[in-house]
Amino acid sequence: MTVVGVLAAGGSGERLGSDRPKAFVVCAGRPLYEWSVDVLREVCERVLVAVPDGYADPPDHVAGGNSRSASVRNALAAAPEATIAVVHDAARPLVTAELVRRCVEAVDHGADGAIAAARVTDTVHAVGRDGLIAATPDRASLWAAQTPQVFRADLLRLALDVSEEALAAATDDAALVRAAGGRVRVVEAPRENMKVTTPADLRVVESVLC
Ligand code: C5P
Repeated sequence: MTVVGVLAAGGSGERLGSDRPKAFVVCAGRPLYEWSVDVLREVCERVLVAVPDGYADPPDHVAGGNSRSASVRNALAAAPEATIAVVHDAARPLVTAELVRRCVEAVDHGADGAIAAARVTDTVHAVGRDGLIAATPDRASLWAAQTPQVFRADLLRLALDVSEEALAAATDDAALVRAAGGRVRVVEAPRENMKVTTPADLRVVESVLC
């Protein structure tokens, strides 16, 4: 088993309003993405980082793509030795090695994929273009997907071998792997595994890391 980390750090992060891509914003004294690299290195033999144009530094910092999943595909292509791929977003710097290990173990025990996820605590409505509630799915079956997302690498490669449009439409890799026939489990994540999207999120994460 060769476990390789793929860190998606190729986005622009416009909602953060910074002068640089989100993954490179300084958070608690270092670029945001480095917090995740340290954690992934505890579990993975190698960590590839998909970075924005102009930030590539081969062999391990590779050019990302036009979408998040295209960035994952590009980074995974640089690690043909991987048999298990640990995909993680640089935007979740509070990930723990324990959470990554629990996902890897689930795949090692037979799942095609295992993703960190949180039970949905709010009621979720599907709303039509007219602004009216059209459906209310049973909350008990709803989970919010996070990263890390761990997959059998051969299946993830197959799932990512689709058009650029299909990659851009995918909001996570689990959906692509499932569409390719994979069975993907959820692993309950701690509440702290939050995603940095806004300046307020960055301040919360910094207060935890400092
Ligand atoms: O934009 P959002 O926060 O949803 O992006 C999730 C993660 O995907 C971020 O870590 C971002 O850097 C990464 N990403 C990427 N390549 C893109 C777009 C986003 O690696 N083209």
